[in-house]
Amino acid sequence: MSEPLYGTPRAHQPPLGPLSPLIDRSSTTAQPDAETLRACGLAEQAGEFYQRLGHRNGRAFESAVAALEGAEGAVSFASGMGAMSAALGALLSSGDRALVAEQVYGGTSAFATEDLPRFGVVVDRFSSVDLDALRAQLQRPAKLVVFESPTNPTLRVADIGGVVELARSAGAVTVFDGTFSPPPIQRVLDLGVDLVVHSATKFFGGHSDVLAGVVAGRREHLDLIEGWRRRSGGILAPDSAWLLQRSWPTLGLRVQAQQENALALARGLQAQRSAGGIVAVTYPGLEDHPDRALVERQMTGGGAVVTLELAGGLPDVLRALDRLQVIARGASLGGVETLATVPAFTTHAACTPAQLEAAGIAPGLMRIAVGLEPVDELLGDVLQAIRG
Ligand code: PLP
Repeated sequence: MSEPLYGTPRAHQPPLGPLSPLIDRSSTTAQPDAETLRACGLAEQAGEFYQRLGHRNGRAFESAVAALEGAEGAVSFASGMGAMSAALGALLSSGDRALVAEQVYGGTSAFATEDLPRFGVVVDRFSSVDLDALRAQLQRPAKLVVFESPTNPTLRVADIGGVVELARSAGAVTVFDGTFSPPPIQRVLDLGVDLVVHSATKFFGGHSDVLAGVVAGRREHLDLIEGWRRRSGGILAPDSAWLLQRSWPTLGLRVQAQQENALALARGLQAQRSAGGIVAVTYPGLEDHPDRALVERQMTGGGAVVTLELAGGLPDVLRALDRLQVIARGASLGGVETLATVPAFTTHAACTPAQLEAAGIAPGLMRIAVGLEPVDELLGDVLQAIRG
C-alpha cells in the first residue's frame, strides 16, 4: 500500500481553488477499471473507495491533528468515546492488564470497568497525581496506562513525563486523553506519551455543533486502531469532518483567548472571595495552585476550565446556576460559549456521596468551561448569580 488510509502530516501548500473545503458525501466511489476496484477493495491502493474505510474530509482533519500533535498520523471517529474505546479495544486483548487513572472522564471510566472486563481484560485503577501509587501498580505487568491532565473536575495536574517514564520502563503504552487541554496548551507527545485521544466535540470543533473524536500517535498503534475502525464502523461523518476543517484555522486563537479569559475570571473570582459566598476558586493557572510547578513545566497556561465552591454547598450552587444570565447551563467544554455545570449531576452522576468524597469532588462544586465572551460580563454574571 503506497500511503496510509488515515491522515498523516503533509507539507503546507498554498491554497488553490475554493478556499473552503468541499464536502464529499458520496458513500461509494465508482472506479475506472476492474484492477483499481480490486486493489482498493484489498486496501493495496489508497484513495476514494467506500466511506466507512476513509474519506477526503476525514483525512484532511486527521492530517491537521497529526501535524498539530507532532504525530505520525491520526485516526478520526464519530465521537470522543468512539476514539477512546477504539484505542483501548484495538490495543488490548484477553488476559492483558490495563491501568486506568481514577481521574478520567466518566465515559472512559465506565468503558474500562463495564466493557473491557467482559473481554477478559483486567482493569486496575491508580491515582494519576501519585507516582508512587503508579510505581506500585506497575510491579505487575500492564499493557496500557490511561490517564488525563488536568483532572476533571478537580483540576489537579499529573506529572505527564513522570507517568510516561514509569510506564515505559515497565513496557506499558501510554494513552492520554488530551480533551481538556489541547495544543497550544500542552503537547503531550513531546512529553513522551504514545497516543493522545481527543474528544474533538470540545475545543477542536469549538462551536457546540459537532460530535467527533480522534487518536494521534505512532503508526504501529494507529494501524491497529484504523483496523478496528474499519471493522467496527465508527468513522467520523464527512459533514462532521468538514465542520472540524472549518474550525481548524481558529483553534489556536480560540484556545489562547479562552485560556486568557479563564485566568482573568479565576483571578476576578478569587479577588471577590473576601466579600463572602465563595470558599474556593480552583484554576491551574492561579499562583496558589498546588501543582503550579508542573503547570509551568508542561503547560502554556491553566486551560479554560475554572471551578468554584460556595459557602452554602450544593443548594447555593443550584440557586446560582438558576440565576445565570450570560453563562449557559450545560455539560461540555471547549466551545465559544461559556458553560456552567455541577459535575456531581453530570460527568460524575453515577458516583455515590462516598465516591465523590474519595475523589475530592465537593457535591456543590460548580465547573465553568470558559468561552469567548468578554470576561467582565462573565465575572459580573457569576457574581450576581452568587449574591442574588
Ligand atoms: N474525554 C473527555 C475529557 C470528555 O470531557 C469527554 C466528553 O465530555 C469525552 C472524552 C467524550 O467525548 P464525546 O462526548 O465526544 O464522546
